[in-house]
Amino acid sequence: MSEPVQVDVDALQDVLTAPDAAFQHDYLEIRGLKVVFDGFTAVDGVDLTVTRGDLRFLIGPNGAGKTTMVDAVTGLAKGSGSVRFGSTELLGKNPTRIARAGIGRTFQTASVFGELTVLQNLDIAAGSSRGMRTLLRRRKSPPSEVEAALETIGLTRVAQVPAGALAHGQKQWLEIGMLLVQNAHVLLLDEPVAGMSQAEREETGLLLRRIGQQRTVVVVEHDMEFMRTYADSVTVMHQGRVLAEGPVDQVTADARVIEVYLGNRSHGRGSVQTSARRDS
Ligand code: ADP
Ligand code: MG
Repeated sequence: MSEPVQVDVDALQDVLTAPDAAFQHDYLEIRGLKVVFDGFTAVDGVDLTVTRGDLRFLIGPNGAGKTTMVDAVTGLAKGSGSVRFGSTELLGKNPTRIARAGIGRTFQTASVFGELTVLQNLDIAAGSSRGMRTLLRRRKSPPSEVEAALETIGLTRVAQVPAGALAHGQKQWLEIGMLLVQNAHVLLLDEPVAGMSQAEREETGLLLRRIGQQRTVVVVEHDMEFMRTYADSVTVMHQGRVLAEGPVDQVTADARVIEVYLGNRSHGRGSVQTSARRDS
């Protein structure tokens, strides 16, 4: 990445505008979630509860079903069981309605509009929660939450640059910014730091930690070291099921977790950080 970019966690306060009370009782509750593709069970009866203020990491080897679970929660994969956000059942709703209910996600490959500028991407995301009429009304300057989001994600200086020209890490930040201006209550981030430099990872970690204090955040991650540094709690998935869950120290010391990561490594399928092998 050519130019040094920094996120501004202080500016985040201005994006997270919703009154605290509205988020006080937020939680995502998944029960018996199952996703089957042509007879193959990718998610096999997952129970998962994530509360606001608990930065949850979801880890597990390649193919464990992490992305599929996020897909099911956001309506992109058909699942059975139950996924509730507060009193709202999400399963069976289409992706647009799930997004409107306050559930936002990012993708392993950033899904920004490459030909539109950074600012336009944020503006559209903000508009999607404001309604079409407001979106179509011409504005002289970006709304304040968009400006605050730009600062938060460190992209103010590149606001007029087409999103497609951004570095990989910046695209991920833009996606996070889009969720913030959409006022997502639940953020599901699929491997946000993959491909980022060490400096960008640290910036992102701080940002996630800060967002996690106010919102319900699930970070799907492969990097054990990153997880150890920033997670409040962690859920480990393996072969479509929850293998272990709890505080980071407890879970990373779990013999079954170590074995899964070691086993995965010996099969050469996924990236495994050495920190997972401290007991071996
Ligand atoms: P993870 O994100 O943990 O690496 P995925 O959720 O992407 O794992 O995949 C879980 C399993 O489901 C894998 O075996 C994968 O090949 C399979 N899978 C994912 N999506 C599909 C699909 N659309 N059709 C068939 N199989 C799929
Ligand atoms: Mg995945």
